[in-house]
Amino acid sequence: MSEFRQDPFSDRWVVIAQNRAERPQEFSQVETRRDATDCPFCAGNEAETPIEVARYQGTKTKPHAWEVRVVPNKFPAVSPSTPDDDDVVASPLYDGGDCVAGQRQPAVGVHEVIIESPNHAARFSELTDEQAELSFLAYRDRLAALDSDPQIAYGLIFKNAGVAAGASLEHVHSQLIALPWIPPEVQYELTKAQEHLLLRKETLMESVLAAEWDDGSRVVMATDHFLVFCPAASRMPFETWIVPRQPASRYELESPDVIAEAGRLVRELTIRLEQVMERPAYNYWLHSAPLGDESGRIHWRIEVAPRLAHLAGFEIGSGCFINPVAPEDAAVRLR
Ligand SMILES: [Zn+2]
Repeated sequence: MSEFRQDPFSDRWVVIAQNRAERPQEFSQVETRRDATDCPFCAGNEAETPIEVARYQGTKTKPHAWEVRVVPNKFPAVSPSTPDDDDVVASPLYDGGDCVAGQRQPAVGVHEVIIESPNHAARFSELTDEQAELSFLAYRDRLAALDSDPQIAYGLIFKNAGVAAGASLEHVHSQLIALPWIPPEVQYELTKAQEHLLLRKETLMESVLAAEWDDGSRVVMATDHFLVFCPAASRMPFETWIVPRQPASRYELESPDVIAEAGRLVRELTIRLEQVMERPAYNYWLHSAPLGDESGRIHWRIEVAPRLAHLAGFEIGSGCFINPVAPEDAAVRLR
């Protein structure tokens, strides 16, 4: 089994997951459209994936067919605990003499793949609106299924689209990695948002939404339910957030209508990104409050980050980012 390790200096966790080195890499430096006949995610090749945990049909889907399908990851970074997992025990990472520091524990968790089309589409922009909606409903259902799991504290839905964004298979898909602890990124925001709430009597996101709305220069789209904008401190060129205007903490509790609109908006945004750039690699992820969290401090949102430059020494060494495109300019082009 894999192992989590928490660095005692930064409190940053890593997964030591050696079996990940064996997963297939179908991309070379140049991305070429592959033949769909040997794609494990295409309809007809269902036997090549682990047994599915969910499938979704559209209004016009033929019987026994599917539009969106969820399967366990064949090469998981984390996995549910089983009684014979005794090779790693929870203990300090460094434990010798007077030094006790860091942690190690079994990499318990859930790692699933959401296959977002039965056809060999490579881009989220190629989906139908209905497939985009069903994908976002699947994200909700997978998170909701974890709500009662005592081993799981946080579930992150994310997409790697394109080799520069970390994708190892071309067929359009997203992933869920669920963890037994709250990631530092989220934990830090919980603390920060609590300070803001006490001081301002409104949540941090309420303040930011009001400021972005008033300013307007970074707004890309606005609907009744959502504000889509390039955040003022974007880490990546064309980084864009899709934020519900009615603040809500946990994505898995959101209404189906709002979730379906989120799917359509993300699809629309990926179309616009591809109009501005030549088939950009990108990541998006669903930033939501921890499972079961009732503090109301974090608001769920979708963060989309095109990957025009590799993370390099400065980013890795400092945890800071250099962004060569002002978000105000990015928003103009995405409008
Ligand atoms: Zn395929």
